[in-house]
Amino acid sequence: MSSQELLYHINDPVIVTDTNQQIVFFNAAAQQVFQLPPSHTVVGRPLRDIVRHPDLLALYDEDSMQRSEIAFPQQVFMAQLTTLDDVGTIIVMHDVTQQRRIDLVRGNFIATVSQDIRGPLTAILGYMELLERVGPLNEQQRDFVGRVIFGVHSIAAMLSNLMELEKLEADLDMERSPVHMAQIVEYVLESYQRRMEEKRHQCEVWIEADIATVQGNPIRLRQMVNHLIENAIKYTPENGHIRVELYAESTFVLLTITDNGIGIAPDEHGYIFAKFYRASNANDSTTGSGLGLSIVKMIVEQHNGRIWVESQLNKGSSFTVMLPT
Ligand code: ADP
Repeated sequence: MSSQELLYHINDPVIVTDTNQQIVFFNAAAQQVFQLPPSHTVVGRPLRDIVRHPDLLALYDEDSMQRSEIAFPQQVFMAQLTTLDDVGTIIVMHDVTQQRRIDLVRGNFIATVSQDIRGPLTAILGYMELLERVGPLNEQQRDFVGRVIFGVHSIAAMLSNLMELEKLEADLDMERSPVHMAQIVEYVLESYQRRMEEKRHQCEVWIEADIATVQGNPIRLRQMVNHLIENAIKYTPENGHIRVELYAESTFVLLTITDNGIGIAPDEHGYIFAKFYRASNANDSTTGSGLGLSIVKMIVEQHNGRIWVESQLNKGSSFTVMLPT
């Protein structure tokens, strides 16, 4: 069987066009999902005359887009467009209908459970606060009450991180506008000033003047900076040092947050951006859900940026975010 015949029979829809967006080839699966006429009648004709699905045409029209969802009433595909110089483009689509259904069920499940848990958590907090009012507590009892309250706050924080992640995955609230990252960084630093003072952290800030704006969502970008600064504070012992740098490099804005805290072992660098992952040394010092950096990574990627970490155990960590201007 020739490679073209093989391609014709695979389950994933494939469409090949030349540099003028004229049809060169499509396989049986593509013919079926787009309801195309027999291929010998349309080869050489402009793709736009034959396929009118707006999601597919948008993939051709937007230079920056290489992957996009193509939705049909009963099916959803993830399409990947590859441009080959002097040849044209090839689109390969993969059926993600089942995955999207699971995502939807999971999203609804998390939203429902989070709402249902919030009520009892608020009741626990309320009664904990009341305990002291109905009779004096000894020191040990007060200590226990404090631990319960702390635990409840941790669960509440985890729930809101989960909800945040779900929202991000559903790609909601992604209105974009020109954003001055310097303003965001300054705003976040201001909101954490007290926390830093409590831990007697020394904070050094270096923000380059007149950095170009980022086309993004200010709320999401603030969440991203929030999580990174919060981690730097959380994982840096008292009297530690935190340095925040914001600068431009060609058409990118870079944000680097460096601390001299507990650091991350090299073999764990690859995992910390995964959902729920907490490095082995994290549990000793703090509580957390392991969701913050997943949220950060998702926000960075939704802004076509990159994030990486450099870190040494017991020496400190440095997180850098690179966003296109
Ligand atoms: P968490 O809620 O545990 O802080 P994150 O997703 O924000 O979750 O971070 C994942 C893990 O990465 C943390 O549990 C910790 O092990 C590690 N980590 C993140 N930031 C730092 C930092 N600044 N210094 C040391 N370890 C860090």
